[in-house]
Amino acid sequence: MLAVQYQLEKSQWLPPEQVLDLQLRQACQLLAHAAAQVPYYANIMRHTAVKPGSRLSLEKWRRLPILTRETVQRAGKSLLARQLPAGHGKINQIHTSGSTGTPVTAFGTDLTQFFWRAATLRDHLWHQRDFSAKFVAIRSEAALQPGKGVERQGWGPATDVLLATGISAALNIRTDVASQAAWLTQQRPVYLLSFPSNIVALARHFQATGLGLPTLREVRTYGEVAGGEMRQLCRETWGVPVTDMYSSQEVGYIALQCPDHEHYHLQEGVFTEVLNEMGEPCRAGEVGRVVVTNLHNFAMPLIRYQLGDYAELGEPCPCGRGLPVLRRIMGRVRNLLILPDGRRHWPSFPSKEWSVIGTIRQMQMVQHDLESIEARIVADQPLLPAEEDRLRQILVERFGHPFRIDITYHVEIPRSGSLKYEDFISEVPAA
Ligand SMILES: [Zn+2]
Repeated sequence: MLAVQYQLEKSQWLPPEQVLDLQLRQACQLLAHAAAQVPYYANIMRHTAVKPGSRLSLEKWRRLPILTRETVQRAGKSLLARQLPAGHGKINQIHTSGSTGTPVTAFGTDLTQFFWRAATLRDHLWHQRDFSAKFVAIRSEAALQPGKGVERQGWGPATDVLLATGISAALNIRTDVASQAAWLTQQRPVYLLSFPSNIVALARHFQATGLGLPTLREVRTYGEVAGGEMRQLCRETWGVPVTDMYSSQEVGYIALQCPDHEHYHLQEGVFTEVLNEMGEPCRAGEVGRVVVTNLHNFAMPLIRYQLGDYAELGEPCPCGRGLPVLRRIMGRVRNLLILPDGRRHWPSFPSKEWSVIGTIRQMQMVQHDLESIEARIVADQPLLPAEEDRLRQILVERFGHPFRIDITYHVEIPRSGSLKYEDFISEVPAA
């Protein structure tokens, strides 16, 4: 682990061309292995001009087809390698619940897990965390009973192999927000990790009740889109910054937040492309589909795997790291609003705009067709007609189109299978 940290410490400062060159060399080995050992790729390689083993250029790489979740599901076992090279360890199943409704069963190795942990440790080092401090996580973890927190010695396997870390505690994210807040107050965390939607709900609860977390130094988030509103709420409520991570269970860490800025640096071990509608690479400032390849997963190679997320590529970072920059992560295609004229955008709904209307506690919007949107609301009492009108007006402004807004009332709005929360979902199929 120390040797890898030393390498990562060096490689982050390499010029971008050199990072790319190292990635293509590793990709070349992955392709040769996939062609020889993975039936799905043996077949693909026969039909592309890319010859495994020959020197790989970016241009050749881009001739390889994009792999979708649906293809991964259909391909099933034909994506698994018959044999692994020495040193990759044993094969482990990775469970992904798939928030887009297409669950994927992925497999990794001891080596992919090792790189996952190395990235976790790099994140701690980048953000100069105090390893003796208390680390608290509120997340989805099968071993945790909702409402029952657990305490553990040490922060977990990524750190504990190298150094003695402080006490950590964990609570299931399905615990209701008031109980989470009470538990957190007792825990006195220095670092708090959770999903962005849960952090927003907690911050609003702390603001409403006037409670505080005086020991807190940093909020860490993952798993959902980390919006500007959450960062602002954390500063206002607890006076702390937010550090976000961009990862997926299938491929591991894709990007970590820069130590000096709110944008992200792509990680060397996962080759990430951001592609426009034509399948060409985006330039800085352009938003496109995120396509990833874990360069170390030889058990179930996912080559040019389309995650379903969209992101905006950024300019090189002033911090001096050569790792490419993702300026923003936008979410999934189903979080895109479709206007009747075919234009699409990611709507945002800062809670400070709608939470002051009546007693709204939670809201989720679902676009069923091109003319109407359902606003699902959790409120202590139904809104008055004037409040409903006010809400419609705010939403129509946010959507940028006079949609018909159908307000429906709910006791709670559950999280999806992966326990992620989406405040806007479009059910209109993309044309
Ligand atoms: Zn940077």
